[in-house]
Amino acid sequence: MQTTQFFDQKLLNKYNISGPRYTSYPTALEFHDQFNDSDLKTAIKVSPNRELSLYVHIPFCHSLCYYCGCNKVITRHRDKADTYLAFLAKEITSRAEFFTDYTVKQLHWGGGTPSFLTHKQITKLVALLKQSFNFAEHVEMSIEIDPREIELGLAQHLFDLGFNRLSLGVQDIDLKVQQTINRVQSTEFIGDFIAQAKTVGFKSINVDLIYGLPHQNTETFSKTLAKVHQWDVERISLFSYAHIPSRFAAQRKLRDEWLPSVEEKFALMKLAIETLCGYGYEFIGMDHFAKPDDELAIAQKNGTLHRNFQGYTTKGCCDLLGLGVSSISAIGNSYSQNIKDLKNYYQAIDDHQHAVEKGLTLTQDDIIRGEVIRELMCNLYVNKQAINDKFSDLKEFNFDDYFSDDLPSLKTFQNDELLTNNNEAIIVKQSARLLIRNICMSFDAYMKKKVNQQRFSRVI
Ligand code: SF4
Repeated sequence: MQTTQFFDQKLLNKYNISGPRYTSYPTALEFHDQFNDSDLKTAIKVSPNRELSLYVHIPFCHSLCYYCGCNKVITRHRDKADTYLAFLAKEITSRAEFFTDYTVKQLHWGGGTPSFLTHKQITKLVALLKQSFNFAEHVEMSIEIDPREIELGLAQHLFDLGFNRLSLGVQDIDLKVQQTINRVQSTEFIGDFIAQAKTVGFKSINVDLIYGLPHQNTETFSKTLAKVHQWDVERISLFSYAHIPSRFAAQRKLRDEWLPSVEEKFALMKLAIETLCGYGYEFIGMDHFAKPDDELAIAQKNGTLHRNFQGYTTKGCCDLLGLGVSSISAIGNSYSQNIKDLKNYYQAIDDHQHAVEKGLTLTQDDIIRGEVIRELMCNLYVNKQAINDKFSDLKEFNFDDYFSDDLPSLKTFQNDELLTNNNEAIIVKQSARLLIRNICMSFDAYMKKKVNQQRFSRVI
């Protein structure tokens, strides 16, 4: 893949403003508390989908990484997880009865740190999920792993339970960076764990990396990239560190002067993209890399890539049911989110066997705009006729007419030769791949309100 086309520093600087990551449209900031559990049940009933993706949130972590913006609970007491799992079990059991005619195609455990759980706890939770829902024979089961505080034997244990994908949080292997972010971990152990996972049968391993962390520089980060290459993993997620200390208290421990400047951060991003593409990975969407024979790379080539709350995925036809504190669901024409605070989550499960706190039912306009934004985020391309066909049951729907107020805001990108907009399609050039969030904002009716803009991270 030609990578020079991605980096025009002048244009990247020009468009480096705050913007949503569009894991959904509308974004979670639009969820409101008038949406309740009966709205969710209606959405399940009327949803045309009968395939399900399950997301299970395990909120505990052994220690606090200072860059973290996730919903988590820091504790060293593993017995806290027993209490959590007892409430989670109640939620799973009561939810499952509404999904008896669904087939689970995908299960993902995120956090926090799912690998905080003991082998026994993991076994019990997998058994309960399999007992409560109908799992497809070839189900994709993935789990996020914190490579600290685990043993090599975890790989075999997970594989025996049916997990077939692992994702490891690595971020950066440099000791000074790790010490500053309070996440010191053994590079040697990570290598051994990956090797062990491959030996027991895992065919898909992902590694998370972050650029823009304190004290990172291109020299040290190139060592991290070389190490990842040596591990020979199938996928890499490359995230930009979003420094928003007003929102995430732990980030106040990371002083501004330790952070790379905008130019240095740009150089780190450029280095990572060039290096990973040079190693033979395909650049997926705006922040993922996959080997050319990986499902994600194939889906991108075929134009069938999708995006949900976990990022890019190949399973676009599934409803998504989130289980556990703070988890998000996307069912039919609805989005909803569970309570974020652990004590309140427990109370809600005790009172009602569910913990839905907020959400929204998509309007027709949300659905149309969501479709366009998803096409742009996944395929860098919108076929106007395909959108017209999709919404042909709406009287005289026509793409250019419907978006007549929005399309003029693409002009700036057209003038900078970042996209073309003709009668048939909007075609985003590779040089605008890193700016795709900005282009999507042109179709975001909520962005026009502007008020939420400061809550989003910068594009780079
Ligand atoms: S980065 Fe991961 S392990 Fe660290 S505090 Fe956040 S959720 Fe926990």
